[in-house]
Amino acid sequence: MQRIGCKELDRSKRSLYLLLFTLTLALAVIGYRATTSINDVGEDGIVLTGDTAEKSGFAMGTYYKLQLTGEHSRKAVAACIAELERLDALLDRFDPRSEVSKLNARAGQGWVEVSPDIISILETTLDVAIKSRGAYDPSIAALVDLWGFREQRGKIPDHAPPSPQQIQQVLRENVGYQKVQMDAVNNRVSLAAGIVLDFGSAAKGYALDRLTALAKSFEVEHGLIDLGGNIGVIGVRQDGKPWNIAVRHPRELGEVFGVIPVKDQYLATSGDYQRYFTWDGRRYPHIIDPHTGYPTTDYASVTIVAPTGILSDVLSTALFVLGPERGADLLTHYPGVEALYIDQNMQVTITPGLKDVVQLVQ
Ligand code: AMP
Ligand code: MG
Repeated sequence: MQRIGCKELDRSKRSLYLLLFTLTLALAVIGYRATTSINDVGEDGIVLTGDTAEKSGFAMGTYYKLQLTGEHSRKAVAACIAELERLDALLDRFDPRSEVSKLNARAGQGWVEVSPDIISILETTLDVAIKSRGAYDPSIAALVDLWGFREQRGKIPDHAPPSPQQIQQVLRENVGYQKVQMDAVNNRVSLAAGIVLDFGSAAKGYALDRLTALAKSFEVEHGLIDLGGNIGVIGVRQDGKPWNIAVRHPRELGEVFGVIPVKDQYLATSGDYQRYFTWDGRRYPHIIDPHTGYPTTDYASVTIVAPTGILSDVLSTALFVLGPERGADLLTHYPGVEALYIDQNMQVTITPGLKDVVQLVQ
């Protein structure tokens, strides 16, 4: 066998090997770039990967995540965040500088001019209040506060429930959507004395409508916006498949109970694990039946799929109070809205339009 040493290679062979080596290196680099994402994190914290822009943060009392794809995705995400911050400042009733707080402070003083955002939210919330015969009520704030469900999330320190007398008094004096007047033509609202508005069950859904519309105006074709479990999707995923949204297990936190495929839709969940306290071995969740004044405890969670964000948010709260039978009556007014109820025994009820679509994991 004859060994060929380096010295014995002639010049042309050496250049051929050099060329092959360079080519292999170039291919390796191209392959590497193709299989790993090239992330470009801007000063604004927006991460750009290809033409998908992403950003996570905290607003409206919850964590949010935006993931938008399109030629102008970075600009779209920046615009969406500015809008989210504007709405947060406008609708936070725990911030005395917000427009909602100023409106609440002027209850009993006649008409108050408000922004079109508040008119839009009231249009939907008052409509659901009327059609649900008061099971949903945007003027529930005083009762929410009486029960001690102010801003906290998750498990609230245990405390005794309010007395029946306190509950009745607040129901009589401070709650009642019939005491909210709205003049959509002149952008004015009038609250009777004692009334306090609470958009805690509507603001995130409304924000999703605004943000998805804004993203579309930047020609975003695929997108997912998650505002603390209130989700809005634009189109389908980039691979042409629907977005698969997980429904959380109400008791095994962190586990998935089911998956719902959606496209160009909105999804919201109201759950008794999201904010609650326990007393005497009973769980008191943050959604209250305005007819009794007590938290409603039949359902562990209700998930809604809807054609608008505000409807998904508002109806998840309304149907949490109503349950599947009375909920079905309410849904006749809202075409395209579907619901998944999970009761305390983890038994599910699914509306017909969603039945064949949901994949239950448990
Ligand atoms: P969500 O998590 O979207 O179901 O919203 C729950 C929030 O809605 C609560 O924290 C309260 O601020 C408010 N809320 C509770 N009960 C009702 C009700 N019956 N109607 C309207 N809003 C309610
Ligand atoms: Mg809701």
